[in-house]
Amino acid sequence: MDKYQKYLSFYRRSIEQPEAFWADEAALIDWHVPPRQILDDSRPPFARWFVGGETNLCHNAVDRHAAVRPDARALIYISTETGTERVYSFRQLQQEVMRMAAILQELGVGKGDRVLIYMPMIPEACFAMLACARIGAIHSVVFGGFAAASLATRIDDARPALLISADAGMRGGRAIAYKPLVDEACALAQFPPARVLLVDRGIEEMKRVAGRDADYAALRAKHMAAQVPVTWLESGEPSYILYTSGTTGKPKGVQRDVGGYAVALASSVKRIYCGEAGGTFFSTSDIGWVVGHSYIIYGPLLAGMATVMYEGTPIRPDPGIWWKIVQDHRVNVMFSAPTAIRVLKKQDPEYLRKYDLSSLERLYLAGEPLDQPTHEWIMAALQKPVIDNYWQTETGWPMLSPVPGVEETPIKFGSPAFPVYGYNLKLFREDGSEAAVNEKGVVGILPPLPPGCLTTVWGDDARFVSTYFSLFKEPLVYSSFDWGIRDEDGYYSILGRTDDVINVAGHRLGTREIEEAVQAHAAIAEVAVVGVTDALKGQLPMAFAVVKEPARTATVEGRRQLEQEVMATVDSLLGAIARPARVHFVSGLPKTRSGKMLRRSIQALAEGRDPGDLTSIDDPGTLEQIRQILGAG
Ligand code: ATP
Ligand code: MG
Repeated sequence: MDKYQKYLSFYRRSIEQPEAFWADEAALIDWHVPPRQILDDSRPPFARWFVGGETNLCHNAVDRHAAVRPDARALIYISTETGTERVYSFRQLQQEVMRMAAILQELGVGKGDRVLIYMPMIPEACFAMLACARIGAIHSVVFGGFAAASLATRIDDARPALLISADAGMRGGRAIAYKPLVDEACALAQFPPARVLLVDRGIEEMKRVAGRDADYAALRAKHMAAQVPVTWLESGEPSYILYTSGTTGKPKGVQRDVGGYAVALASSVKRIYCGEAGGTFFSTSDIGWVVGHSYIIYGPLLAGMATVMYEGTPIRPDPGIWWKIVQDHRVNVMFSAPTAIRVLKKQDPEYLRKYDLSSLERLYLAGEPLDQPTHEWIMAALQKPVIDNYWQTETGWPMLSPVPGVEETPIKFGSPAFPVYGYNLKLFREDGSEAAVNEKGVVGILPPLPPGCLTTVWGDDARFVSTYFSLFKEPLVYSSFDWGIRDEDGYYSILGRTDDVINVAGHRLGTREIEEAVQAHAAIAEVAVVGVTDALKGQLPMAFAVVKEPARTATVEGRRQLEQEVMATVDSLLGAIARPARVHFVSGLPKTRSGKMLRRSIQALAEGRDPGDLTSIDDPGTLEQIRQILGAG
């Protein structure tokens, strides 16, 4: 494995000489004032990167490219929901951002003020994020379409001076009115914003609140010639707040800095995604998630790439739409989620062969475990490297990933490969010692966290320390709350979340291991496994599976037979200890809106408890079905 050795020496320098390493990477961005000190970690676990340096995310993402390549494509907006396609050059993007910045200033927003962005995937959302960055306001993007109560909690945590929204979002051809949700959230909130800026897309009627609500089009017309200079910020000042997905409980307000984030993202686009100025990046995520922040907006633009902002589903007007976008806009780098690929896997594979995908270099997937069958399927279908990325809202960029920009190492199915440079990542046993090769452990990072990671929890330094750094007394370690394992070649695999581990008669089993075994049965499309309390064995695995052909489970007899077959598959792959006590067949599984399995809610139902906080659930009907099946015995 000499290829791995080459990456390893690059990696080692980042860990052993972090200051020298990151001083080099810092040259990827423009500094108004260069940093005085690369790293200040005198107060662990807090770390300050590029201390004394002054820079600006908007300058680096927009202005510096507009200065040298004004007509190059910057933002490619495609909506299959409204049938719109618009391309903005760097010069045009800069103009729109300055207009938006002037509007923010007119509405009383200044440096350090929070701006809550609750918007659909429209260009104005991108302008709003960059305009905040330009004037030093702190944005907090909340996924559009979240219920009023979820929005209200995030309002109260961030206390924004301004909320930016639109009349409506669209999904699968249906309009979702946002304005009534905004009004309801403002009424529920204890600290509602003084002003609300509204983009009218002409989809839904809006009732304006006099004195509070402002109209974007009218204000934009007033500021057509706006020239708003960037506000230089010290590297460690906050750039934005973003809440975690809420898969395991109450979302945490991740706070990010300016300089560290800019450097980490510019570096990652170059080294992990192999993106170059003039190329095109297509991330299928939403601006409401971390992938949207890092790899729809900031990462590609910082690197001088064009970024695709897509409003629509992967299967409308047909399941070839993504590949058509890749062909039409000569996409080089694509980023998506395993969940979406599993959706495509159920469609006709012909759609993947219809388009010219020659521009595409690699597809990156993140957010959930990438199971081997899905990884193999998409790689065979595309005939391109498909790279599993493991990271979190907290880290802002990958923690485990191949780094093909340094060295193209062989891909192992089901593994996001190695710790990314900058991350002193290890697997830990419960006593704080390091796990051996092929031994399960908690994925942890020894401080300092590298540039780009959260610097604290918004407004709550104590929560930052107590949430993330209290796994052991010694050593001080950032906990990911995920289980992993490392093989003899140094490849890691993520086994699931620490609270997803099932303890059967003293044996610790990752939900993911059992899920992969269930999925090895050819009839199963998707499955969730949860641990259910059992008086005798402590916990027992229970599976909820979606079948590829529903006809197979239409009768009691069919269900019973398939259940037996699935159990036999698990027995043969993992042993009887991992065999699910029951395999229930459902038509869909409960997920968050970002496509993450809500195992904790399934588990709660299976144990006869309340499913808990469901604000981020996508389709509540899926839980209802599980409730009924469990009720029927
Ligand atoms: P919350 O922290 O609020 O419960 P969340 O953890 O789902 O929500 P995110 O930050 O969006 O919020 O998700 C990060 C988590 O997603 C990781 O901790 C891990 O459990 C999972 N994950 C992300 N990428 C991968 C991957 N490539 N393989 C396996 N799991 C992954
Ligand atoms: Mg999390």
